Amino acid sequence: MPKYCVIGGGLSGLEFAVHSAARGNEIVIYDAGPDLRKKHVHFDARVLEGDEKKVHWTADERWAIGGINERLGGRSLCYHGVMLPIEPSALESWPAAWQERLSGPDGLYRQLQEEFTREFPEMTQRQPIGMPLLHVPQAAVVTESGAFSSYSPLYHLEPFIRDGMIRIKKATIAKVENRTHGFRLIDGMGRTVDQESFDKCVLSASAIINNRIISTSLGRSTTAHVTDHYCIGIAVKTRFGKRVADFRHEMLWHGFAKQHDLNANIFVVERPNLDSGDRLLLLMAVMEQNPQLGAFSQLHCHVGREQSSLEIESHHSDAVIDNYNRLGRQIVEFACEQLSADLAPLFDTLAERSGAFFGSKEVSTLGLALEGLGSSERSNVYARFAFPYGSYEHESCTHPIGGTGEIALADSLEVTALPGVYAVGPGAFPRLGIANPALTICSLSRWLASNI
Ligand SMILES: Cc1cc2nc3c(=O)[nH]c(=O)nc-3n(C[C@H](O)[C@H](O)[C@H](O)COP(=O)(O)OP(=O)(O)OC[C@H]3O[C@@H](n4cnc5c(N)ncnc54)[C@H](O)[C@@H]3O)c2cc1C
Repeated sequence: MPKYCVIGGGLSGLEFAVHSAARGNEIVIYDAGPDLRKKHVHFDARVLEGDEKKVHWTADERWAIGGINERLGGRSLCYHGVMLPIEPSALESWPAAWQERLSGPDGLYRQLQEEFTREFPEMTQRQPIGMPLLHVPQAAVVTESGAFSSYSPLYHLEPFIRDGMIRIKKATIAKVENRTHGFRLIDGMGRTVDQESFDKCVLSASAIINNRIISTSLGRSTTAHVTDHYCIGIAVKTRFGKRVADFRHEMLWHGFAKQHDLNANIFVVERPNLDSGDRLLLLMAVMEQNPQLGAFSQLHCHVGREQSSLEIESHHSDAVIDNYNRLGRQIVEFACEQLSADLAPLFDTLAERSGAFFGSKEVSTLGLALEGLGSSERSNVYARFAFPYGSYEHESCTHPIGGTGEIALADSLEVTALPGVYAVGPGAFPRLGIANPALTICSLSRWLASNI
């Protein structure tokens, strides 16, 4: 029976593990974080020690200092479960074989959408929406008691653990070594992690950490591309019109509108009314850093004698900045049109008057935007917010399929420079597209489980 190791037990790694074990392969999962959290954070609101976000890279001021949560289950234990396919125009940048695997008539998008639809009521429209918005398919459920949970392969591990097909070990892996009897794993102190050896390795420790493991395994510093979605939004307070739909949970969107001329989708949710009786809506635009408008940012992995480090150098072309600023204006026009309201900015800032939102310190956080609207007596106003670039948690394209950079994957998802080592997750995407990445992440992992 083939024995594989999976490095990183988040969305991509566990998805591979469950589907590979179901095919009769023995799997050992190594994850850096604890396995204390068993449910989505909206089900289990405890703050668990060792479950926090850890920072693993440095960056210039235009890539947010973030980090990933180190915990078994990864971000699938806090995400929204939005499952959107990458739009055809972005998928065109993927190798032809992958276009067919994902969006062909019997492709993985269709298979997964059908499966999630059977299991999760929120994949399909649940209530009429009072705005011309598309339904946001979410592999999610809200229970009668109001708790939210979304799809995670973590919930499917148990039978395989019982049968001994999957084992889970806590370890932070720094590199993989191909020795005579198979692959061995090495930690950050240079120690062999345990006495197990493996036929193949699957890297799934996130787009950024995968690159560090690959560089350290190769024993040389590397540079790769990295990108993330941009996010700019407005919170709106208005007296006009009727609710978009009933509010059910803060993690459930009411709908989205495609703004693909500006490489974006606008997500909309109407929250419960304010004490003043005003309606409160959030409109959040998620924008792709379209590679046709300029190069991505760069991820440098420095490999030293003792240890390795990561550094991100951000890059935004004038065309991307212009796209972002236009989107900032378009989101207000969209809200005015849809709500038939003449909305004014709550804060009269220079950014608002000039339309130069990109990188502006005057654009606030979501929390401050909501606070501002709540404490103002004015109505028919909006407050603008943004997520810093690099903090939206959709980081990707670091070791792309078919890439020509130093770290790339073959169509089979094998790391070209490390035969026998495979990589999954959003780092494998040749292009991120506008869509949120989870449906494509799950698709890649399932394909690898069937074809490794
Ligand atoms: C609040 C929030 C909401 C989101 N909502 C959505 C959504 O609705 N739809 C969508 O498409 N996307 C969403 N995302 C993004 C999505 O969750 C991520 O794109 C996805 O989880 C990435 O999967 P991954 O397996 O690459 O990484 P992760 O899920 O982060 O898993 C990485 C795993 O690797 C482990 N690890 C890290 N380093 C090491 C190491 N050296 N050795 C061993 N293990 C290691 C970590 O502990 C972790 O378990 C959301 C993200 C957040 C934070």
